[in-house]
Amino acid sequence: MRRFYAPPERFTGGRVRLGDEEAHHICRVLRLGPGDKIHVFDGLGHEYLVEIEIAAGRVVSGRVLAEVPQEKEAPLSLALAQGLAKGDKLELVIQKATEIGVKEVIPVHTARSVLKISEGTRRTERWQRIAREASKQCGRTFVPRVESVTTLEALSARFKEFDAVLIFWEEERARRLRAALAELAGKGKVRRLLILVGPEGGFTQEEVDLVVEAGALPVTLGPRILRTETAGLVAASIILYELGDLG
Ligand code: SAH
Repeated sequence: MRRFYAPPERFTGGRVRLGDEEAHHICRVLRLGPGDKIHVFDGLGHEYLVEIEIAAGRVVSGRVLAEVPQEKEAPLSLALAQGLAKGDKLELVIQKATEIGVKEVIPVHTARSVLKISEGTRRTERWQRIAREASKQCGRTFVPRVESVTTLEALSARFKEFDAVLIFWEEERARRLRAALAELAGKGKVRRLLILVGPEGGFTQEEVDLVVEAGALPVTLGPRILRTETAGLVAASIILYELGDLG
């Protein structure tokens, strides 16, 4: 069954009207028409079986026949705060993080970020779109939130929203991720976890001090230095394997 995305506000009175792009795809590319059935997900975790009623150019709407039960979301809600990196690295991170099962991506401007805040802000919409596309492709009905670019100071004021916060730091010698997860599991159920990954140049000592002071645990991923785009994805995979539904 073909899957399409429509945000919740497009569902009214038992019907859904698709956006321009999805409509174009349905009419012009797939040549679907009245009577054809499709799946439409709302990005908040719901997916519906829909029968197309109108398919004319950019106007496609249909009747919702039933909700299709989904079990695509991990019991752990994982937020990945990723230091703003050069070029389109964040695009890759957002796409892959969506497939792996991350719930939220928070781009963070840090002392060693090369990309400017304004440049990050300009790209936010594009990043959200990448999360939508990746959700569609991997069968997720929930679209991870990609927040607007923030700073470590602003983010650390939000640490209390999470059960735990881990900062990945290559200079941490004592606490490995394996041990940190065992430590957290021993303290009770972890439902919301935030992880922080630095940009290419890593975090400064002051930044690590700031977030540790705010309650984050510094954690190492082992003896090799991973690139910024590798580190977040590896960490998310390990965490969702251990505490989520990956693998
Ligand atoms: N400052 C370093 C490397 C930065 S790597 C340098 O330039 O040599 C980019 C980010 O990936 C780091 O900020 C960290 O969050 C994460 N990272 C990479 N390798 C890591 C490791 N072995 N342990 C923990 N974090 C790591």
